[in-house]
Formats: sequence, C-alpha cells, structure tokens
Amino acid sequence: MFVEPTPGKSPHQDGKGQIEVICGSMFSGKTEELIRRLNRALIARQKVEIFKPALDRRYHAEDIVSHNANAIRSTPVNFAEDILLLAGTCDVVGIDEAQFFDAQIVAVANKLARSGKRVILAGLDMDFEGRPFDPMPALMAVAEFVTKVHAICMKCGDLASFSYRLSPDRGKVMLGEKESYEARCRKCFFESSN
Ligand SMILES: [Zn+2]
Repeated sequence: MFVEPTPGKSPHQDGKGQIEVICGSMFSGKTEELIRRLNRALIARQKVEIFKPALDRRYHAEDIVSHNANAIRSTPVNFAEDILLLAGTCDVVGIDEAQFFDAQIVAVANKLARSGKRVILAGLDMDFEGRPFDPMPALMAVAEFVTKVHAICMKCGDLASFSYRLSPDRGKVMLGEKESYEARCRKCFFESSN
C-alpha cells in the first residue's frame, strides 16, 4: 500500500522531486486515486497543475472527470513536452490518461521530477488485448512509487485487472468507455477472448 511521503511538505522545500504512477484497468479508480492525492496536496497549500491528453474529450474538455464525477480543472495538451512549458512554478503535477501521451512523457516526467516537482501520473497499464500499454511500462520503471489499483470483474466479482472490449472495433484508442468495456479478471478475460 502506497503511503504518501511527507504529506504537507512540498517537494520544492527540499528540492527532491519524485514520480508516482497509478495504474490499472478501466473502472479501477485510477482517476479517483489521482484526484485524492491532488486534493490532499491542495489542502497542504501546494500549487497543483493538472494535464491530460487533448484527445480525451469524453467529458468536459477542461476537467479531469472520474466516473464518480469528482472533478478538478485540468489543461488539455497535445504533446507531452507542452507540459514542461505549462507546469511553471507548481509543486505537484498531475497527469491523467498518461497512456495516451507520446513516448516523450517519460523524459518530461523525469525533467519535472529533477526540477523538484512531485509528478503523479495515472493511466491504463494494459490495452484491451491485455498487452502493456506504452508508455506506461517505461513510466512505471522510472517512478519511485507504483500503485496498481483493481476493478471488480463484471463476470465473477473477483478483482479485475483487464479491460475487456465489448465491441468488435479493433482500434487501440476508442473513447466512450462505459458502454464499450467491462473490467474482467484474468480467467474471465481470456475465456471470452478465445
Ligand atoms: Zn472474473
């Protein structure tokens, strides 16, 4: 279980940044966990900036919106490197839907952390075929802390870490998730895929 380091203390204060990754399947509560950490940083009066890929327009364009409708204002960006320009003097950088960013997101996260910021990224760790979803594996490798959150299998009620696509569309990026996907455990995911 991840316990937030030095809550209430800005990473800026000791010049040590860090990278945290929150990963899991769809419906696993990744965004909720990101919002929870960001809200606590706000309570500690730290300056927080939040980014997400511009292509993720399922809900409101400028809010990070999780499925339970907790929302924090966020800035849509087209390229990972845009975050370097926009992060400014903030203490904490939140990045949602990190799997949709280009490979530069790894260098961007490292640069932000080197400059003393706490960087928290949330994203899907596997695609709908159960394959690692780049660039998440590389982000997990460079992070100090990785938290894998789980959904509940909609077939059997066990813990789920796979995102099963109900529609026959084979494109990797498909938005409008609720009606198109189910969380599945390993057994139920592969029983239905074969
Ligand atoms: Zn199951």
